[in-house]
Amino acid sequence: MRGWPVAGGEVAASLGVYIHFPYCLSHCPYCDFAVEVARTIPGERYAAAVLAELDRRADGFAPLGPARSVFFGGGTPSLWEPAFFARILEAIDRRLGLSEGAEVSLEANPEDGAADRFAAIRAAGVTRISLGVQSFDDATLKALGRRHRGEEASRAVGAALEAGFASVSVDLIYGARGQTIEGAASDARRTASLGVPHVSAYALTLDELAVEVPMARLARSGRLRLPDADDQAAMGGAVREELASGGLPRYEISNHAREGHRARHNLGYWLAEPYLGLGVGAAGALATGRYTNARPTGPYFESLERGELPPGERDPLDRDARRSERIFLGLRLVEGLDLAAFAAAFGGADAAALRERARPLAELGLASLSRDRLALTERGLDLHGELCARLV
Ligand code: SF4
Repeated sequence: MRGWPVAGGEVAASLGVYIHFPYCLSHCPYCDFAVEVARTIPGERYAAAVLAELDRRADGFAPLGPARSVFFGGGTPSLWEPAFFARILEAIDRRLGLSEGAEVSLEANPEDGAADRFAAIRAAGVTRISLGVQSFDDATLKALGRRHRGEEASRAVGAALEAGFASVSVDLIYGARGQTIEGAASDARRTASLGVPHVSAYALTLDELAVEVPMARLARSGRLRLPDADDQAAMGGAVREELASGGLPRYEISNHAREGHRARHNLGYWLAEPYLGLGVGAAGALATGRYTNARPTGPYFESLERGELPPGERDPLDRDARRSERIFLGLRLVEGLDLAAFAAAFGGADAAALRERARPLAELGLASLSRDRLALTERGLDLHGELCARLV
């Protein structure tokens, strides 16, 4: 494995590739992702644009290859014909290398018909399915504006588990209108009992990028009442407890896995490793900085069809920004931040200063500090943002 140069040192690199597929069948009212609702999806044109972007960006990432993970996210990438996954994976292998046994994830929704195509999706090279279940309860699904019903979600999970993927993940959301603590716990219990090996459980959040989504506007106007912060926190606690007792311990703030099923691709983000992002709204990161493609599909197509990179933002990420990001991301993991790797990247003085700032948190039982690692405790993880702001 090659080193990835960062300010002041080198870290072991594990390259990931993220491909964003922006199309969805409808727009869920809480969603702030780069999404476009399309009746007819321009699958061929989009694949050609993604491949053109790969060609233009590959040289910068090739020295970090081979890629150890690929993630087709969205949007609803399972609406894409499976042949496009094979074509893109083949191009990634040609331009960057693709490790033997690389994790290749695909997001799918219970209602998009992907279950009928799981065999073809697997044959195209996908090894891991991430299902947007959100809940098994019809009232909660309706409150979230989702198109599927609980029964469909159960069937899709069963089909994914039977299709022979190396891993299957289920996304759950808690904190929807009318949802109770027991309701959230019951979703987690059901997920664990189905034998799913990986679960991402997120609180419904309507801040930051989501402040202007329809559900956020309704909540602000008082026409929509959501569970309050205490109830939402209690739901989170109940979900974590159910998942842990069902054999899915938490390994990251929102992620749980059985032994051997941690999401390699997402681990790359939390360990601040390099990643190539392709597609509308996708972001990528290298030692020289980060880029984020603009969201509208029109300019994305037009630029790449002219032979240019798509419009977007570039952020050079200076040393301080990189160090803060390393702390914020690393402390999302239950096992915390590797202090030796932190010292190698940012110098012994910065690592010693971090240790000093962490000491009072350890005394309060919010963090644990050993010779090699700094981690937040269960209580500390609930205050992740606040505590990290004190540590940077
Ligand atoms: S299906 Fe997923 S990506 Fe599409 S609008 Fe709904 S939440 Fe957003």
